[in-house]
Amino acid sequence: MLFNFNETHEEIIKLSKDFANGILKPLSEEYDDREEFPLSLLEEYKKSGFYSILYPEEYGGINAGLTGLCLCIEELSKVDGSLALPPATSALGAIPMILYANEEQRKKYFPLLASGEKLAAFALTEPEAGSDATSITTQAKKEGDYYLINGMKHFCSSGNISDIYIIFAKTAPEKGARGISCFAIDKNAEGFKIGKKEKKLGIKSNPTTEIFLENVRVSKNDMIGPEGFGLFVLQETFDYSRPGVAAQAIGIAEGALEITVKYLKQRKQFGQSIISFQAVSHKIAELATKLEAAKSFLYLIVSRMDESYTQAFENAIKNQKPLREELKKISKERWTKYSAMIKLYASDIAFDITQECVNLCGGMGYMRSFGVEKFMRDAKVTQIYEGSNNIQKNEIALQISKEY
Ligand SMILES: Cc1cc2nc3c(=O)[nH]c(=O)nc-3n(C[C@H](O)[C@H](O)[C@H](O)COP(=O)(O)OP(=O)(O)OC[C@H]3O[C@@H](n4cnc5c(N)ncnc54)[C@H](O)[C@@H]3O)c2cc1C
Repeated sequence: MLFNFNETHEEIIKLSKDFANGILKPLSEEYDDREEFPLSLLEEYKKSGFYSILYPEEYGGINAGLTGLCLCIEELSKVDGSLALPPATSALGAIPMILYANEEQRKKYFPLLASGEKLAAFALTEPEAGSDATSITTQAKKEGDYYLINGMKHFCSSGNISDIYIIFAKTAPEKGARGISCFAIDKNAEGFKIGKKEKKLGIKSNPTTEIFLENVRVSKNDMIGPEGFGLFVLQETFDYSRPGVAAQAIGIAEGALEITVKYLKQRKQFGQSIISFQAVSHKIAELATKLEAAKSFLYLIVSRMDESYTQAFENAIKNQKPLREELKKISKERWTKYSAMIKLYASDIAFDITQECVNLCGGMGYMRSFGVEKFMRDAKVTQIYEGSNNIQKNEIALQISKEY
């Protein structure tokens, strides 16, 4: 890797690598087969400190930014892109609050999230509202100091292992895109219920669930951002969260490539190791080049994002303002184009690399016990969630057409 990371980031790489090999690896195959999340892992993650990466020290964090988060997700995903998910999904759930929460909400939620005492999850998608978030039907009706929320969500990652759910609901359905608001809801709220868990192609050990909300009473103090700002919260959350999907994709591809190259070096056919056939070694060279390009692009983007993130967080705490207001003062730039580009590129090359790895390993590549086909199955979802790759292309094209 060409990048020079700072001491904290190097430490995160080491701790995540050790965690992945020592703790995730022994659980990986069994829990993929069982399509279950190993509950003992929650305690291990809590001890790991990984949940603290994005938060400033004031709230119990280590202030290592998106670079720290991506390095952690990448290292964990090299071993298992599914068991790697709790720090990623809790960050996705937390980012709306990180950007938009006021000081009171930060004090209420951040220490719990940074310590791993509670995990956050993100629940936007509904059966009739996937790529088109504006068509959600979950409603939040104001009643004095509370909102009464009714509706359902599906495909919620880490669905039955999280504690604080970020829910998008319509507070003014007649206002369309400007009538959506964002709420933090505790799993113990009356009327909040986890529904069925999906059976999936990949990331099988991470529970993807439905959520039912029946007359859930939420205080107005748990609205994240102003009323009607839900779509902005959503779009800006994706600017900050999509690099994490790219990191997951890159980690998965690296894991597959490592196993493949080791195998091709020792596997002999026609009296020579398979990697010595030029058709094979050239393929490896192409895959490794794409991977390196994706990594360099990812860490360039997040290191630039972290410059404004860290400075703006300091100002947000000093001025008692939401982070987003301070970010806007520092830089007019939104990261939409770059975060969509890296999510698009990294997930596409990860699927390409992992399926080529299956090809290169021949029959062994197809066998569950060998471990490469799991990387291919796990890579697929990175092209779909946090906006399908067509949606990334729409967003990139929109930004480009504004530039010229
Ligand atoms: C395993 C898994 C975990 C998930 N976790 C979460 C989660 O934690 N929280 C959450 O809220 N959601 C989650 N999702 C939902 C995910 O973000 C959506 O599945 C995704 O945004 C696509 O929506 P959809 O499935 O409804 O597809 P659709 O919107 O129905 O799209 C179907 C196809 O049409 C294409 N398409 C749609 N509109 C356009 C367009 N305008 N231009 C071009 N092509 C278009 C899409 O690219 C796609 O190929 C998860 C999904 C999966 C599979």
